[in-house]
Amino acid sequence: MPGYSDRDRGRDRDRGYGGGGGPPRFGGGGGRGGGGGGGKFGNPGERLRKKQWNMDELPKFEKNFYQQHPDVTRRNPAEVETYRRTKIITIKGRDCPNPIANFHEASFPSYVMDVINKAGWTEPTPIQAQGWPLALSGKDMVGIAQTGSGKTLSYLLPSIVHINHQPFLERGDGPICLVLAPTRELAQQVQQVAAEYGRASRLKSTCIYGGAPKGPQIRDLERGVEICIATPGRFIDFLESGKTNLRRCTYLVLDEADRMLDMGFEPQIRKIVDQIRPDRQTLMWSATWPKEVRQLAEDFLKEYVQINVGALQLSANHNILQIVDVCNDGEKENKLIRLLEEIMSEKENKTIIFVETKRRCDDLTRRMRKDGWPGMGIHGDKSQQERDWVLNEFKYGKAPILIATDVASRGLDVEDVKFVINFDYPNNSEDYIHRIGRTARSQKTGTAYTFFTPNNMRQASDLIAVLREANQAINPKLLQMAEDRGGKSNWGGSFKGRSRW
Ligand code: AMP
Repeated sequence: MPGYSDRDRGRDRDRGYGGGGGPPRFGGGGGRGGGGGGGKFGNPGERLRKKQWNMDELPKFEKNFYQQHPDVTRRNPAEVETYRRTKIITIKGRDCPNPIANFHEASFPSYVMDVINKAGWTEPTPIQAQGWPLALSGKDMVGIAQTGSGKTLSYLLPSIVHINHQPFLERGDGPICLVLAPTRELAQQVQQVAAEYGRASRLKSTCIYGGAPKGPQIRDLERGVEICIATPGRFIDFLESGKTNLRRCTYLVLDEADRMLDMGFEPQIRKIVDQIRPDRQTLMWSATWPKEVRQLAEDFLKEYVQINVGALQLSANHNILQIVDVCNDGEKENKLIRLLEEIMSEKENKTIIFVETKRRCDDLTRRMRKDGWPGMGIHGDKSQQERDWVLNEFKYGKAPILIATDVASRGLDVEDVKFVINFDYPNNSEDYIHRIGRTARSQKTGTAYTFFTPNNMRQASDLIAVLREANQAINPKLLQMAEDRGGKSNWGGSFKGRSRW
């Protein structure tokens, strides 16, 4: 296995890719010659075609650089288990290497270690301890970790090792490592770290985001960068207009994937990922693990290992009064109206109603408005502009009722939401907790009403666990349902038996 320092950094920059007449390109250009922007007002990326990959023609590349430190090899399974348990690390998936316990056990090259040493930290964070061996061994991975957990270095340091093992960039090559991030702020933050750690090995990085002049960003890309941190909208624009390409991209990071989906970036992410060779290494990061994120992982990652840091037992905010109404689907409409009549007579009455599908969202919004309720709908098929407008109307109280699907709710941060109504029960308790967490923010209190029907029976015991943990009264009918089902848990199960409005 090659050592970490095989790349002659700094010299030989113009070395040809494989020499001679030049090897085949990595899957062709990324839509070169398109001209113009990505169509801000059209369908971004519509001119990008999904690539058909012929794996035999693609140049081979190396992605496993992990050399297990002898101290790590020596640790017995019980010690590894104890370490993971004390750091609350849980693993899903096969062949996950042992975690490391100290920085030196990661066997990073000296130019990376020098920067780590300068930071003066005592030990790797749990996500680094487990994430580094995994990422360095070239495996696809999902990391469920929050901002502040040290996740940026978890993927950036292995990316530096990865890049330093690849042939040098040639003129016209796009980045080797692409990091997609939801916001300009996060992208800039990540790039600062990339610049700091990449400097020692003369890796260039840039940050691509919307709302800023394109010129300097294009110039950076044209000069050639090994690491590109980008928000999906602007990046797809550059990809489509041929300002960059992904033929050299072999290390892909999706940071804060859940937030990117909340923000409606899924179509752009899919178009971008379609342009990257399938045998790339993919690392996906998310603070939560709802079904949309799981689907993305299924579609983009191969035989991945998932690392969770922190308690798996989910708990709801204890400042929320949770009321579960066990009823039939046909009763929901009347119950909702009665509930809203009560709520709207309150002084503070900002309410979010969650429904399962976009269609239901549209239907319910239309009916409510017809009956004179000050409600507005929001879901993933609405344009960003429309979503922003609806959210503002809600935020500033012009429309105190918001009817929403899960996708639209995730990033939603409105201070004074007093009520959440789960008109349709979500797919899993994680989404339930997330939804009701839209109320009772910043130490305030709030109330969550949930319509729970026999169709949701399989989720009863999970919901009871959440209610118990938050010391809530439990509806005896709910207990009965769980009992009838034999108390089986359905963590993350799929939703069946949709009811009609
Ligand atoms: P992140 O979760 O990547 O946003 O990192 C959060 C903060 O933790 C950043 O300010 C890092 O500089 C810092 N950090 C990263 N790794 C460590 C570590 N091993 N020990 C202490 N702090 C760290």
